[in-house]
Amino acid sequence: TMDYGPAPEADGEARAWLKRHDATFGHYIGGKFVAPQSGKHLTTIEPATGKTLAKIAQGASADVEAAVGAARSAQPLWAKLGGHGRARHLYALARMLQRHARLFAVLEAIDNGKPIRETRDLDVPLAARHFLYHAGWAQLQEREFADQVPIGVIGQIIPWNFSLLMLAWKIAPALAAGNTVVLKPAEFTSLTALLFAELAAEAGLPPCVLNVVTGDGATGALLVENPGIDKIAFTGSTEVGRLIRQSTAGTAKSLTLELGGKSPFIVFDDADIDGAVEGVVDAIWFNQGQVCCAGSRLLLQEGIAETFRRRLIRRMETLRVGPPLDKSIDMGAVVAPVQLERIKSLVETGVKEGAEKYQAPGALPAEGCFYPPTLLWNVHPASTVAIEEIFGPVLVAMTFRTPDEAVMLANNTRYGLAASVWSETIGLALDIAPKLLAGVVWINATNLFDASVGFGGYRESGFGREGGREGMYEYLKPKAWSGRKARAKALPPPAPAAD
Ligand code: NAD
Repeated sequence: TMDYGPAPEADGEARAWLKRHDATFGHYIGGKFVAPQSGKHLTTIEPATGKTLAKIAQGASADVEAAVGAARSAQPLWAKLGGHGRARHLYALARMLQRHARLFAVLEAIDNGKPIRETRDLDVPLAARHFLYHAGWAQLQEREFADQVPIGVIGQIIPWNFSLLMLAWKIAPALAAGNTVVLKPAEFTSLTALLFAELAAEAGLPPCVLNVVTGDGATGALLVENPGIDKIAFTGSTEVGRLIRQSTAGTAKSLTLELGGKSPFIVFDDADIDGAVEGVVDAIWFNQGQVCCAGSRLLLQEGIAETFRRRLIRRMETLRVGPPLDKSIDMGAVVAPVQLERIKSLVETGVKEGAEKYQAPGALPAEGCFYPPTLLWNVHPASTVAIEEIFGPVLVAMTFRTPDEAVMLANNTRYGLAASVWSETIGLALDIAPKLLAGVVWINATNLFDASVGFGGYRESGFGREGGREGMYEYLKPKAWSGRKARAKALPPPAPAAD
């Protein structure tokens, strides 16, 4: 064992929750846990130790059908509740997250491997903020979106890197707009979604409005194919996004895709170098680099490249990698062995293709999926690591001479999610920003998110926006009214979910 300073965050409450469920979970359908109809479960591990954490249900088509049926039964009533009625529920969900912030933060850290400092300060508060923000939109809905109606039943598929936060990004606008939801969390990190569904019911969310079906990609594909779904909202890899686009083509389903990235982090000669070095630390070593908009390509103007490299390496030497519940660590564990292997093999390829490798020297914990902060220097723009998304704590560095060359290098990717520009000449930064093909450009900053700002990609990073007014439109469809306004008929109460 190693000495990591301050005592780790106590995990008693999270372990007690797991124990209460015998560490075995069904799907959450119609307001209760339901055993998978196939009887099959998957094992989810704790990445920092490699130990089994829990068993989650593997969703088969009967489970997906039950969940979609439940969501369908509830949708007209949920819509009829009106914006103000739904806002009350969204506020209650935000308060629920705040009340159980510590439990969510610890469970997410254990299940994902990310530092408790991040889950406590970012994942959980930003998730709560998303519900608060969308409660506001629900209240304004009849006025601000008078010519729009909800889409219906939404199938939502999310990745493992920000399990709880992606849940919030998905379900808050969908529910605010009057849709009901079937959510499929990623198989590595389904626990916070199950906890959320359980506590949402306790907080009074009507049964069947939010249903969670767990399982791997096969379960996701069943959800995508289900004819009772009106829209698929997906966040994940570009490869799976492409499959989903093919599968929904020719159907009436609408679709939004939030996919991968290889975002440039551009530093000009006149930048505040220490500030930019701190920016890099946040851009690529936050969440072990498993961030879709990670600033994973460092583009340095030639004049400062050497100085920057020296200061960055010195800073890397101070980064601590360790167990997620230790409050003094900077980086935790990578989510799963398969991801660790992928990262290792891409780094090997980078070195074979000519890059120089630097790694932070600190010892790594003996067990678990740990990988050190890594810099690949002198990377050729055409080499594999400059092109492929690594989705790990690996930064690739290149140099440029002129602003035009910086723009060309930055845009030399199939992705277009985010970009970061560092210069003390605001005129230069403002000239470069619009030329970058990216959904968001940060100037002398990185990784700034807010529920009120639409987030999403250009090119193969996907389409659609999450957050802001534009994010609400993704869950509404236009409706023209004429003549006497038809009165909605009273609808029957929701059918009980099939067991
Ligand atoms: P992934 O695409 O493998 O999985 C994402 C989700 O899709 C999981 O729930 C998975 O079970 C499901 N899935 C897998 N195959 C499926 C199929 N055929 N049909 C339906 N669903 C299927 O991606 P991942 O490894 O979990 O996440 C990493 C990727 O997600 C990275 O490329 C990253 O850039 C991207 N990402 C993007 C954003 C964004 O907002 N743009 C945010 C986070 C992550």
